[in-house]
Amino acid sequence: MPKTIFERIVDREAQADILYEDEHVLAFPDIAPQAPVHILLIPKRHHARHAAVPPEHHSVFSHLFAAAQKVARQLRLEKNGYRLVMNNGPDGGETVPHLHLHLLGGRPLSWPPG
Ligand code: AMP
Repeated sequence: MPKTIFERIVDREAQADILYEDEHVLAFPDIAPQAPVHILLIPKRHHARHAAVPPEHHSVFSHLFAAAQKVARQLRLEKNGYRLVMNNGPDGGETVPHLHLHLLGGRPLSWPPG
């Protein structure tokens, strides 16, 4: 399988403005922002999507959510709030088959999503 754009970012073969990095996670702005703040958090280890993460790798979920909390704090989103979204598969609107968490904020977000 060819690498996804996110694997290429992890391998530093594609450019991204990395604003957070730790042992497990990278965070960078979405190229097509849907809100004034739109950050993607991705695991360095490849998993295609939420549904494809095996139980022995479930710690990736806590790594992503913990990193999102740090980035939200870094961007001072705590007071007004923010949304975390993980699109899974065709009905979920997934377009890049590498697990990722969207962090959206900077404006009131409507509900339900489209
Ligand atoms: P999803 O639709 O949930 O799979 O999210 C994939 C996201 O990746 C979309 O919001 C795209 O705008 C974003 N995206 C695609 N390519 C890049 C890139 N090179 N750098 C940053 N974001 C990207």
